[in-house]
Amino acid sequence: VPVTQRKPDWIRVKAPVSREYGATRDLMRGLGLNTVCEEAACPNIGECWTKKHATVMILGDVCTRACAFCNVKTGMPRKVDLNEPAHVAEAAAKLGLEHIVITSVDRDDLPDGGASQFVKVINELRRTTPHTTIEILTPDFRNKMRPAIEAIVAAGPDVYNHNLETVPRNYPTIRPGARYYSSLRLLEEVKAHNPLIFTKSGIMLGLGEQRLEVHQVMDDMRSAQIDFLTMGQYLRPTPKHAEVKEFVTPAAFNAYGAIARAKGFLQVAASPLTRSSYHAGKDFAEMRAA
Ligand code: SF4
Ligand code: SF4
Repeated sequence: VPVTQRKPDWIRVKAPVSREYGATRDLMRGLGLNTVCEEAACPNIGECWTKKHATVMILGDVCTRACAFCNVKTGMPRKVDLNEPAHVAEAAAKLGLEHIVITSVDRDDLPDGGASQFVKVINELRRTTPHTTIEILTPDFRNKMRPAIEAIVAAGPDVYNHNLETVPRNYPTIRPGARYYSSLRLLEEVKAHNPLIFTKSGIMLGLGEQRLEVHQVMDDMRSAQIDFLTMGQYLRPTPKHAEVKEFVTPAAFNAYGAIARAKGFLQVAASPLTRSSYHAGKDFAEMRAA
C-alpha cells in the first residue's frame, strides 16, 4: 500500500476513554512510574490500559540514544530512583498483573548500563508478587553486555526480550547506536546461560525492508535460538522521525507469520498493531499451556 494514502483503516484505533484507562494512568502517575505505552505513543494504549496492562519503563524517561523511530526523549538522564523497584512491584500488585513487561531507556551513562536496576526490580517482584511472570525488554548494554546479561539472567526473568527493530541494512539510519549482530549475540548468550529462559525479539515493518531481508532476519533469530517473534507496523511518532515507507497489509503480516511459524518460532505475533508487549501475557500463558 503506497504511503501517500491516508493511514489505512486497519491502523485506526479507538480513543482511550474508559474509566479503567484513567485508573491505570492515575496509578502509574501516583507511583512516579513511566510507561513505554505513553512515552512511545503506543497506538494500543486505549485497549491495553482498559485491561490494566501497562509496560513499565524503568531508569527514567530520558534516553542516552536517539533511534530514528523512537519517541522517547534524548539527553542527559536523571539519577536512578532507588524507590523504583518497590514502586514497580506495588503497581504489579495493584493492577493484579499475571504477567508484567519491564523495559528501560538506554543508560550508556551508567557503569553497568542499568542492569542492576533490572535485577532489583525482578527481585522485588519475585518477593511481593511471586505468581506474576516477568518479561524484561532490555537495551543492548553495548560494551557492558556480558556482565549485564550474567546479572540479569541470574535474577531469573521468565522471558528475556531484546528487539532487533529492523533489518541490518537499515541500522545506520534507523538504529545508529546499535549493532545488528551484537543484539543477536545478546539473545544467544541469554539462552546459553540459561536455556529455561524464553528469548524474544521483534522487528517493525514499513521501513523499506524487502521480503527476503525479513526472512533472513527470521533465520538469524532462529540460529540464535530465539523463541518468540513479534512483527508490527512502524508508525512515525512525529515528522522529525523516520518516515513510513509502506503500510504493510494485514494479509502480508499473516504471510510473514505463517513463514515464521514454519521456521520454528514457539510463538509468533504478526499484525499491524503488534508491539513487543501487546498481548504478551495472554500469548505467554497460552504458549505455556500448549
Ligand atoms: Fe503499552 Fe505494550 Fe499495550 Fe502498547 S502494546 S499500550 S506499549 S502494553
Ligand atoms: Fe528509544 Fe530505546 Fe532507541 Fe532509546 S535506545 S531512543 S528508548 S529505541
